[in-house]
Amino acid sequence: MTNPTNLALRFIRPDVQAMHAYVVQHSAGMVKLDAMENPFTLPPELQAQLGARLGAVDINRYPGTRIDDLKHALARYVDLPAGLGLMLGNGSDELISLLSMACAVPNAKVLAPEPGFVMYGMSAQLQGLQYIGVPLTADFELDEVAMAEAIAQSEPAIVYIAYPNNPTANLWNADTIRRLITQVSAYGGWVVMDEAYQPFSSRSWLDEIRRDPNANAQVLLMRTLSKFGLAGIRLGYMVGPTALVHEVDKLRPPYNVSVLNAECALFALEHTEVFAQQAATIRAEREKLFNALQQLPGVTPYASEANMMVLRFTGDADAAHRAFEVLKAHKVLVKNVSKMHPLLANCLRLTVGTPDENAQLLAALTSALS
Ligand SMILES: *Cc1c(COP(=O)(O)O)cnc(C)c1O
Repeated sequence: MTNPTNLALRFIRPDVQAMHAYVVQHSAGMVKLDAMENPFTLPPELQAQLGARLGAVDINRYPGTRIDDLKHALARYVDLPAGLGLMLGNGSDELISLLSMACAVPNAKVLAPEPGFVMYGMSAQLQGLQYIGVPLTADFELDEVAMAEAIAQSEPAIVYIAYPNNPTANLWNADTIRRLITQVSAYGGWVVMDEAYQPFSSRSWLDEIRRDPNANAQVLLMRTLSKFGLAGIRLGYMVGPTALVHEVDKLRPPYNVSVLNAECALFALEHTEVFAQQAATIRAEREKLFNALQQLPGVTPYASEANMMVLRFTGDADAAHRAFEVLKAHKVLVKNVSKMHPLLANCLRLTVGTPDENAQLLAALTSALS
């Protein structure tokens, strides 16, 4: 007898069957420092105001003009340069998928430095595009020669530059990026600057776009409210030359951003000072954490422009894995990135938390290293 389930899988793509589902680590009762979330919630009085606003939303209707209000509010928030368009995604993750879909002509390729954000490769491959990962240098800088060679050879439709990068948390050399943009633009390719960590970064490519719009005529810039403090609502946005954004926007499911997401984002944009204060606290905590980690024997922290930090263990090859388990036993959850890429061997990725959470992290790490 044929197993009916096996028969039903006949039309599921083999590459999909071979995939593993994205694993979200269990975190109940833990200090959650694994996913670059903002550790702060809204003050109670703003929570109450938001509740009243959400309660009054027409949830019986499909999203309508409030979505346009949100687009206008975001355009004001980023001070959108003239001639650029803006579109919304259900998180940046959706924008990355739509970009792959838009570029999926036969033989099209997507290229990104590695280690980097896994969704670039995953969404490309699911749309049938070839994905090319180019290793960073050992100190996590762009390998300009290797990038330029790979781009010349494959002429990718899209080159992703995460600015700052996940998980290495650094900004790459701006001159290198300018030269790569020139190279990619010359044959018609797109460069996507992914600024998910912009609230914690000292630089934004948007200033570069303002300074030299012509050189950036094929650059799209993506941001998200996730690391800003609203990971739960799923809202990403992308700005770029109107004609390019228009093409990608055609692929967007018409009601991809819910009325609740939109109202919550509008509310947050009316209180940007609260989120700016939270980001300032996180940046200050990041520096304190970095200094404290530099004092710890057996680990080397990497400087960060984001709300996360890579920590390398200098002991034997299993040191990071053992520390991860000790942290977990102390109810501190981080991300073990040791196996993600050879350049990250013996590394953990820490998210910067509240002062109290960071103190617990440091105490647990100290015990792991003793
Ligand atoms: C977290 C992250 C995103 C995804 O953001 P969402 O809006 O939550 O989907 C995109 N790019 C990078 C580099 C990230 O780290």
